[in-house]
Amino acid sequence: MNCPLCGGKFTGKVGSNQYFCWECCVEFTINNNKVVIYELGDDGNLLPYGEKKAAEGR
Ligand SMILES: [Zn+2]
Repeated sequence: MNCPLCGGKFTGKVGSNQYFCWECCVEFTINNNKVVIYELGDDGNLLPYGEKKAAEGR
């Protein structure tokens, strides 16, 4: 399973349909061939990718 973000191969499975990329430190899930990327927030919660930066910009 390659990372949808960086295309790297250093990914690990962390749950059913859930993976972690060691290259860019994001998690992503695959449901019905739809990939959703998450990143870890400062509080340890998973945020949809891009929202953390948007929140910091405020
Ligand atoms: Zn990656």
